[in-house]
Amino acid sequence: MYIDVLLELKNKQMDQTYTYHVPKALEKKIVIGKRVRVPFNKRELEGFILEIQDTFTGDFEVLDILEVVDEDVVLNEELIQIGKYIQETYLCSLSSAYATMLPKALKASLKTNIQKKYQTYLSLAMPYEKAISLATSEKQKDLLDYIEEREKVEKKEASFISSSSVTTLLKKKIIKEEQEEVYRYQSMGILEDEKKSLNEEQQYAKDQILKSLDKNEQFLLYGVTGSGKTEVYMQVIESVLSLKKTAIVLVPEISLTPQFVTNFKARFQDRVAVLHSGLSDGERYDEWRKIAKGEVNIVIGARSAIFAPLKNLGIIIIDEEHSDNYKQENSPRYNAIDVAEYRAKLNNIPIVLGSATPTLERMAKSTKNIYTKLELKNRVNHQNLPIVTMVDMSLEAKKGNFILSERLKIEILSATSRHEQVILLLNRRGYSTTITCSHCGFTYKCPNCDITLTYHKTKNNLRCHYCGYTTYKQENCPKCHAELNFYGYGTEKLEDYIKQEFPNLKVLRMDADTTRKKNSYETIIDQFKNQDYDILLGTQMISKGHDFPRVSLVGIINADASLNIPDFRSGERTFSLLCQAAGRAGRKNTMGNVILQTYNPNNFILKCVEEQNYEKFYNYEMQIRKKLKYPPFYYLVSIKIASKEYELCSKEATKVCEYLKNNISEETIVLGPTTASVFKMNNVYRFGIMIKYRFDDKLIPTLQELDKMFVFNNKVNLEIDMQPTKI
Ligand code: ADP
Ligand code: ZN
Repeated sequence: MYIDVLLELKNKQMDQTYTYHVPKALEKKIVIGKRVRVPFNKRELEGFILEIQDTFTGDFEVLDILEVVDEDVVLNEELIQIGKYIQETYLCSLSSAYATMLPKALKASLKTNIQKKYQTYLSLAMPYEKAISLATSEKQKDLLDYIEEREKVEKKEASFISSSSVTTLLKKKIIKEEQEEVYRYQSMGILEDEKKSLNEEQQYAKDQILKSLDKNEQFLLYGVTGSGKTEVYMQVIESVLSLKKTAIVLVPEISLTPQFVTNFKARFQDRVAVLHSGLSDGERYDEWRKIAKGEVNIVIGARSAIFAPLKNLGIIIIDEEHSDNYKQENSPRYNAIDVAEYRAKLNNIPIVLGSATPTLERMAKSTKNIYTKLELKNRVNHQNLPIVTMVDMSLEAKKGNFILSERLKIEILSATSRHEQVILLLNRRGYSTTITCSHCGFTYKCPNCDITLTYHKTKNNLRCHYCGYTTYKQENCPKCHAELNFYGYGTEKLEDYIKQEFPNLKVLRMDADTTRKKNSYETIIDQFKNQDYDILLGTQMISKGHDFPRVSLVGIINADASLNIPDFRSGERTFSLLCQAAGRAGRKNTMGNVILQTYNPNNFILKCVEEQNYEKFYNYEMQIRKKLKYPPFYYLVSIKIASKEYELCSKEATKVCEYLKNNISEETIVLGPTTASVFKMNNVYRFGIMIKYRFDDKLIPTLQELDKMFVFNNKVNLEIDMQPTKI
């Protein structure tokens, strides 16, 4: 027997399968998708079995494999196929696709040393009466009773009762010990919750989805914030489970949506496995095997949970489909939603994408009936959507109000006096955005990257938000010793300011700096939910799907910040972020009130937010996209050329551009090379090329050729991002 093994050769992004011979003794263990250990260039490597052959016709020497690593298949047929899809769609190597799909313990790599965990159990080795008659002390009898009552007892626990009795009884073979595998991850006590009776819109959405459980239909569940999308998901899944099928639910980030998970666990108990980033490698390995063995029916997780080895998949649900988190930002740069659509097709099952602010791409598809649109236009329990009021900050600035407008201050006092809570969104962390010398113009900049450093007051240091470079702030300008000025402000300064302005209110800050520690995010959410605090301020983290019933006021401190990011999606992101943030207000019993502070009160996108009018935003933004030839009218490829040598980088980028223009369709647009939005990052220069296309048969083969040309270039790196989310 011969097998083809896919080896992961780390240094090069290259795939190669190698043929090996299987010694007779190992033949029985050979199954496609298991890992084997093989000799390779005087080393040993691990790889996946992808083919099995009876004979071998090549004329070179074939080596024997050394070992079959797995008892159970790691890559089942479906996962093998998904890996190939990723390789073809995102132009990466097959081995890197599998490496991305699998938990660390199951990657083909000798370095992992994550083992299954066992526990030893004791049980009676003979009928109880006989065992008791053989016991020679009261202690032994007590222990036998203890074991008999429980059938089996963990050895540790029994030894705690009487370790000498355990030893004696084992020696006399009156009791026996057995190893049993245990899962490391124990979820905490679970609440119960009751199924809610759906309102008309929810019921209609549910019915439509249930009609298509045996087809590959794609649904866009477009439901305003607080319309009860989660309840629809849960009831649909309940029906899927009753057909003995399984479900995958993707959320942008588990730690940011603890409530979503709690709801699912309360409803489905231990039939749910949650794959979150807080799991250790061992725990993740256990969860994965639990899923593969069919011990759970629902998997909830972020992006990579789309690779969960569930069998008999019945539905895939993707919440907050507009989130950028579904796209992986390093190679393989896959988009979990594309993979989900592919997997749904493979299984001939429906997929449901939910959002209050769908991406233009998917909304456009729904107008063409590629997606079936299901709408939830109303909040549950007839709560109204919040009222948004725009405040012109240029008028406020004249009055000396740079951070909070008069109006927002009044609203904060009035809401808190009614014991309601307030959320303030400022999408920029740190204290000041820049520190500049008023005399010589000196600015603290990152020596590795092309950006200014952000001042963090708590640690009195300046940090680069790209590479993490940190330096200390001097008292005066390091160049001319004149006074330093602070410009702009982040969440840290906002917190200081609020404390000064409202000494009687309790403020909680949530951003990347205050949520570094494990569970700190959940703690903040819980504290705010328990009403220990009046105000929660923070970055876009606070806008996620939280359900805080006592929040009646949301203040958007600087609506312009995200509008000014140079990316064609910044309008869409701003609309989505601000609507999500606004959606935190008035979810239960209170009227929702949103104050939106801006220096651009005439900005069309902000006007759409003010009206919370998605359709208006959609029509406007679609016109722009059409005119500028962006998605959903064109597809995009972004190419980055990076090198430590500036001249070389620039020259190669120009060459790549020429090569593209000469080899792809004339209708395809090639833009660049331009310096990337962060031109220098970590001492590496970066040039960007953008390709816009509609149909181009020659494009993929050309990109594959380009990729190959750079594989052996160790001075210049080329990276291709198919359908990028960030440019
Ligand atoms: P969305 O995700 O659409 O923003 P959620 O799923 O968070 O909304 O639902 C908002 C709140 O409404 C939750 O507290 C949820 O439990 C509740 N809810 C959902 N559906 C119903 C219903 N049919 N009846 C009563 N309450 C509901
Ligand atoms: Zn830097």
